[in-house]
Amino acid sequence: MENGIHRTMTLGPPRRSLLMLLLASGLARGDPVKPPRGPLVTCTCENPHCKGSTCQGAWCTVVLVREEGRHPQEHRGCGNLHEELCWGRPTEFVSHYCCYSPLCNHNVSLELTATPTPEQPQEVGQLPLILGPVLALLVLVVLGALGLWHVRRKQEKQLGRHSEAGESRLIPKPSEQGDSMLGDLLNSDCTTGSGSGLPFLVQRTVARQVALVECVGKGRYGEVWRGLWHGESVAVKIFSSRDEQSWFRETEIYNTVLLRHDNILGFIASDMTSRNSSTQLWLITHYHEHGSLYDFLQRHTLEPQLALRLAVSAACGLAHLHVEIFGTQGKPAIAHRDLKSRNVLVKSNLQCCIADLGLAVMHSQGSDYLDIGNNPRVGTKRYMAPEVLDEQIRTDCFESYKWTDIWAFGLVLWEITRRTIVNGIVEDYRPPFYDMVPNDPSFEDMKKVVCVDQQTPTIPNRLAADPVLSGLAQMIRECWYPNPCARLTALRVKKTLQKLSSSVETPKVMH
Ligand code: ADP
Ligand code: MG
Repeated sequence: MENGIHRTMTLGPPRRSLLMLLLASGLARGDPVKPPRGPLVTCTCENPHCKGSTCQGAWCTVVLVREEGRHPQEHRGCGNLHEELCWGRPTEFVSHYCCYSPLCNHNVSLELTATPTPEQPQEVGQLPLILGPVLALLVLVVLGALGLWHVRRKQEKQLGRHSEAGESRLIPKPSEQGDSMLGDLLNSDCTTGSGSGLPFLVQRTVARQVALVECVGKGRYGEVWRGLWHGESVAVKIFSSRDEQSWFRETEIYNTVLLRHDNILGFIASDMTSRNSSTQLWLITHYHEHGSLYDFLQRHTLEPQLALRLAVSAACGLAHLHVEIFGTQGKPAIAHRDLKSRNVLVKSNLQCCIADLGLAVMHSQGSDYLDIGNNPRVGTKRYMAPEVLDEQIRTDCFESYKWTDIWAFGLVLWEITRRTIVNGIVEDYRPPFYDMVPNDPSFEDMKKVVCVDQQTPTIPNRLAADPVLSGLAQMIRECWYPNPCARLTALRVKKTLQKLSSSVETPKVMH
């Protein structure tokens, strides 16, 4: 136990789902323990997210962060959630401080520990005795694998890594793919065997060493935090308890399927934490400071080359998800079912990667299975294909799900085209169907527009002036055929975009 918190386990590879469920249901559950809520307090605000010199929160915070290769920085602000951060001991990289009176965080200075906090003893004693030897054996296997990893690492470096989206020589490799500890660990063969993740004991250890730094996003079903692992940024998605099925699904897919690809969000670890009587579900992935494509498009307009770079890289990710690869290094076909610009992230090399596999379905022709999962969540209404809205989709046929992904992908491409500058003209960011449905549209709103009126977003006229972009416009129309099987395949989308992008030059971001 550490400060009243203990993380119990990570999810393991494939066929551990049952064990996972048993252990999960064995954990005491109940309402999350809420921090005491008094009146809001005014605090000094000094961090990149401040809208003024003060903010209001349930308490005031000071966070001292030392990122790899940088001087320590102090962030002052307000806290509302995750009060347990206040009780954490400082580490080499992060120190949190909380106080509860007006402006109490103004004159506080923190220090980091000089050496890493030693590992806390694990709760082995609480596990049934029979698990002891099994764990010891696993530790030995992990150590062996770590040895192998050093050897493989050398080979990896010689071979270099493959990027389907190409052009990566134009732009420096992002730090997360460079000589980082995480990069080394993840590029090694030290994974779950069949899945994309580290062995589950390593996942748990990594997760325990992550310190949360700042909340960077709130989604429909939880929050995303930037965390630090040995000074390296990682993203921590904290699922709300009502979305535990998304966490199970995403964890299951990452741990059972070999999904390492430049254009699919890189998985690091999954963790289930038990704090007092509540369970916290964490998914730890690579951190991308540009945030989602949705965030990126609000802030930037695009030269055609960059628009195509974003599009082609996202298409590479989607094509990799959709394809079934046979053999020992293979993967089942996967349909995403919640594609949207918020679920596509922009990496520092300005390539996209696809995130959020919480609703994904898997299919293998070889072993003839269709795994739909049992998540009560549905996709985002705004991005639903006509056959989903009029409930005509054949839910027993895997292809149907891929066709709905293509519809949504066409909408994402349309969002990109609005922000693309042609002849000096560009439009503001808008979500698909912004001019046809209200904010937060209902199922019925969408059904009326998409099925009854058979409307699609208006493709900017200016694209017709450019031979490459008119090709892109035509491709988008072919993603929106009402007849699902007439739509392009992800592979066709990827190849067409690659061809279009090979006819334009170096990308750059415009402000
Ligand atoms: P939703 O898909 O419902 O918007 P998510 O929980 O998937 O919610 O993500 C919320 C936001 O957090 C995203 O829109 C993005 O801005 C940010 N985010 C998610 N994952 C990452 C990541 N790996 N790196 C950086 N930012 C992220
Ligand atoms: Mg999401």
